[in-house]
Amino acid sequence: MGAMAATLALALALSASAQEPPAPSSERGSASAHRPPQRPADAQATREQKGSAAAGGNSPRPDPGQAAPSVPVPSAAPADAGGTAAGEPPPPPGPPLPETLRESDFDNAACRLALFSWGVEYREIPPLADDDQRDCGIARPLEVTQILPGIALEGAAPMRCDTARSLARWMREIVVPAASHLPGAPRVIALTPGSTYQCRAVVGNGDGNRISEHALGNAIDIAAFTFDNGTRIEIAPVQDRGDLSVAFQNAVQGAACLFFTTVLGPGSNAAHDDHLHLDIKQRRGGFRLCQ
Ligand SMILES: [Zn+2]
Repeated sequence: MGAMAATLALALALSASAQEPPAPSSERGSASAHRPPQRPADAQATREQKGSAAAGGNSPRPDPGQAAPSVPVPSAAPADAGGTAAGEPPPPPGPPLPETLRESDFDNAACRLALFSWGVEYREIPPLADDDQRDCGIARPLEVTQILPGIALEGAAPMRCDTARSLARWMREIVVPAASHLPGAPRVIALTPGSTYQCRAVVGNGDGNRISEHALGNAIDIAAFTFDNGTRIEIAPVQDRGDLSVAFQNAVQGAACLFFTTVLGPGSNAAHDDHLHLDIKQRRGGFRLCQ
C-alpha cells in the first residue's frame, strides 16, 4: 500500500512537470495559475528539477573572474536594495524593464561565448540601476574595453551582452572590411562612443516621455573611428565632405541595420548629426527603424 502511494505521488509529480509549458522564468507565475494546485512536496520537486536542468544546460558558463554566479535569480532587484526593501511585494506596475530584459543563464553564456570567440575584451560588472527611475538599468551588464582584438572601445562602455554581440559582428563583418577600402587600407584601432548607458528619455523624435534604449544598455552611439595611420573619421553630414570617407560612412551606416534594429545618424534628425545611434530594441513584428 505504501509503495502504491509512492508510485501515485511520483506519477502526479511527473505529470505535473510534463504538462508544464516551456515558459521562461518570468512567466512561471502565470503558467502555474493554470495548473491544478500541487501539494507542497510536489511543487518543491518540480522546482528543483527545473533548477538542476537550468544549471546543467549552463555548464560551460565562461566566467573567468567569478566561480559562483553573482546574479540572484529572483526578481527582487539587488541593486534596488536601498529603495524598496527586500521581501516587499513587487510594485503595482510590474517588474522594472531591466528585469524583463534579464537574459537567462543559457542565453547569457551563449552570448559571452560568441564574444570570447571573436576576441572581445570585457568584464562583468554589478547590475546597474537608478535610484530615481526604476526602468533604468542593466541586469547583467558587461563593460567592454576592446570590441575586437586591437580595436579599443574608448571609455569602457557598459552594455547588455546582446548589444556587444551586435556591435562586434558589425565591426567584424562590415566596418573592418570597409576600412580596407580607404586610402592606404588603414586598420581600425579605436571606436569613440557618444552616449552609452545613460538613464534618460528618447531624444530627437519629440517622444520625450519614452525611455531611451540607452537607459537599458540596448544602445550605443558611435561618434568616430580612429585608424592606425593616424587618421580619423568623425560621423558628420556627408554633404559636408567629398571623399572616400563619405562612402565609408554610408556603407557602415547602411549595413548597421543588418545587426541592429534601430540605426539613426546624419540625415535622421538634427540630434543625430554627429554620431550613429545603434540599438537592439525589440519591436512588434521584427520592425527595424533605419534612417
Ligand atoms: Zn543614441
